[in-house]
Amino acid sequence: ATPTAVMVATGKGASQGVLIKGGGALQKAHKVKTIVFDKTGTLTVGKPAVVSSELFSNYPLEDFCDITIAAEGNSEHPLAKAVVEHAKKLSRKDWSEDVQFTEVKDFQVHAGAGVSGKVGDRTILVGNKRLMREFNVPLGSEVEKYISTNEDLARTCVVAAIDGKVAGAFAVTDPVKPEASRVISFLHSMNISSVMVTGDNWATASSIAREAGIQKVFAEVDPLGKADKIKELQLQGTTVAMVGDGINDSPALAAADVGMAIGAGTDVAIEAADIVLMKSNLEDVVTAIDLSRKTMSRIR
Ligand code: ADP
Ligand code: MG
Repeated sequence: ATPTAVMVATGKGASQGVLIKGGGALQKAHKVKTIVFDKTGTLTVGKPAVVSSELFSNYPLEDFCDITIAAEGNSEHPLAKAVVEHAKKLSRKDWSEDVQFTEVKDFQVHAGAGVSGKVGDRTILVGNKRLMREFNVPLGSEVEKYISTNEDLARTCVVAAIDGKVAGAFAVTDPVKPEASRVISFLHSMNISSVMVTGDNWATASSIAREAGIQKVFAEVDPLGKADKIKELQLQGTTVAMVGDGINDSPALAAADVGMAIGAGTDVAIEAADIVLMKSNLEDVVTAIDLSRKTMSRIR
């Protein structure tokens, strides 16, 4: 493409909230045959909310809330924010006052799994099944049932364990964006195939994918694994775009032929991407590809 054509298209994109960094992405986007989408915050609204919670093994409610709030209060994860908000409502304490969180020692983030730490001499784990398995916390049939029932309803479960025993769990929903299925089926009509890659579990990921009409799913994938999936697709000879919003998507955004970041996402993702969708609307994935197709066909 001539520098002028690129400049015109870049300007046109910008006026529609599609920021294209440099001419490279514009010259590649029309070749895209596969688009890989992150789940949370990309296909879903990204504002998770707890819809149910349950205490197990007769754990005292107030203590369970305190400890969960303490651990998740240290996490930046959207799921953690939803859990903290819900646990505050569950507890009888008045959290509107400036109540001090219980101090957490040895706080650790386990990417794609959850968090851990110590409150006093008690060990706390808050996260998914994988985290519980990693720390040899048995779930038991009651907890397993709570998890599978909710995952089948496209909910993500967060389990809290104290001293190696499950104390309670939360079920979280994050609805699919209203435009998602329309955009995905339009992409299919453009001969572009759709893939989802997520750190979340298979059951939740599959039901979200079904709702959005996504053709292929990879679940329980860590951030570097997301980049590996992109490279695998590229090795099959297809030009790949990745759409994501989180820190955990940045290696994949960088690995893709065209990385598209959701504008409402994290700075790290925006930095790693070639194109930024400022309106955070999935329709703009089509806008970006269209812009590239038109620019490149005018030149040829
Ligand atoms: P995604 O790829 O969908 O954006 P992440 O890689 O951020 O998801 O997280 C994957 C999974 O790890 C989550 O679905 C959740 O089960 C678990 N997880 C990560 N961080 C936390 C946390 N702070 N609290 C509870 N669960 C967490
Ligand atoms: Mg995300």
